[in-house]
Amino acid sequence: MSQRILIIEDEQAIADTLTYALKTEGYSVEHCLLGSLGLERMRLVSYSLAILDIGLPDISGFEVCRQARTFTNIPIIFLTARTEEVDRIVGLEIGGDDYVSKPFSPREVVTRVRVILRRLEAPVAPVTTTQDDLFKVDEASARIRYCGTPMDLTRYEFFLLKTLLEHPERIYTRAGLMNKIWHDALDTSDRTVDTHIKTLRTKLKAINSNLDPLVTHRGMGYSITVRELI
Ligand code: CA
Repeated sequence: MSQRILIIEDEQAIADTLTYALKTEGYSVEHCLLGSLGLERMRLVSYSLAILDIGLPDISGFEVCRQARTFTNIPIIFLTARTEEVDRIVGLEIGGDDYVSKPFSPREVVTRVRVILRRLEAPVAPVTTTQDDLFKVDEASARIRYCGTPMDLTRYEFFLLKTLLEHPERIYTRAGLMNKIWHDALDTSDRTVDTHIKTLRTKLKAINSNLDPLVTHRGMGYSITVRELI
């Protein structure tokens, strides 16, 4: 079955061009002219991805994204006529996955769609630790289970924990983590990594107060350990 993509865009001509380009690539495409209708559709249908215009006549694309994020994790690509960097930051911070400025070539959008969907489809190697059930990362749903309990994580917390879990024991510097996880966000501060580590630690503790797998290496960075825990 082909992957379904939802386009929420009030300019029919743009939607038509995108629809044509995506269909040519084998995707099935649906189009809504209003944000409210798009949200309605997203609640009913499980799409593989949504392409979302920011300037919509009823509610802004940002608001659509914010509301969508309360019930779905599907990738969202923003379209905007505005070029201000602030759009880009806001869009990604509220849970957008990518961003394309108008005017764009349909090919560019199709390529981004393909890249994002392929990334999601890549088989997820289960995180193997010496203790099998300590952490389980499910990339497709952006969820991590810890000690068998699903964690309630923000997107950045998810990426941070997932990154650390890719190489247990390895020390990641703040700069390295910033680069890898917050590369799109421009208004971050030196404290961004520390703040997220802190909330992660709290969430881990809430699940199992006996373990403290997040290790702070003073002046160096952070690692996650599973070894001494067993
Ligand atoms: Ca528009």
